[in-house]
Amino acid sequence: MLLKTFTKEIFRSKCMPSAESVHCFAHLDEDIQDVLPYLNAELGGSSYTKEPPSVTFKVHGKLMTVHPRKIAINALKDEKEAEKILIWLKGIINDTWDRHDEIEPSYESVPQPVLFEILKLLPKSNCRECNEPTCMVFAARAVEGVKGHNDCPTIEAENREKLKKYLSQFHFE
Ligand code: SF4
Repeated sequence: MLLKTFTKEIFRSKCMPSAESVHCFAHLDEDIQDVLPYLNAELGGSSYTKEPPSVTFKVHGKLMTVHPRKIAINALKDEKEAEKILIWLKGIINDTWDRHDEIEPSYESVPQPVLFEILKLLPKSNCRECNEPTCMVFAARAVEGVKGHNDCPTIEAENREKLKKYLSQFHFE
């Protein structure tokens, strides 16, 4: 088993202390650097960097970044959800490492959506009904895969479909 134990740290965003969602760091007791390119191959990381080594990917609207000694997860409901995702991720990391001889490692990032392609489909009213402070922030969150075509309540139906089609190219929807 590559990853055995970690210590969880839960905190709120310093930029938006009133936000209901929480963020989580898991400080790892083992160095898991060697599994990162295999994890990137298995989970289709949206961002892979060699120096410093890390891989970022999205699962169920959560953005997760795995470093050799730390995992960061954003936009969580609460500590219970963080615990559930970390246990799942620990299983994926260890399973990937067990099978790494059969996996072709990947050192590439998957192409990203363009922020302005998303922004031009949004109403740009900054109404905050999506719980983001501006449409620009919403677009940035959509690039990350955290927001999707159903998360802006005021978008026109035609643009909602266009947004769905655009984001689906990047496997976010
Ligand atoms: S709900 Fe839609 S229009 Fe309103 S701020 Fe969010 S993205 Fe912009």
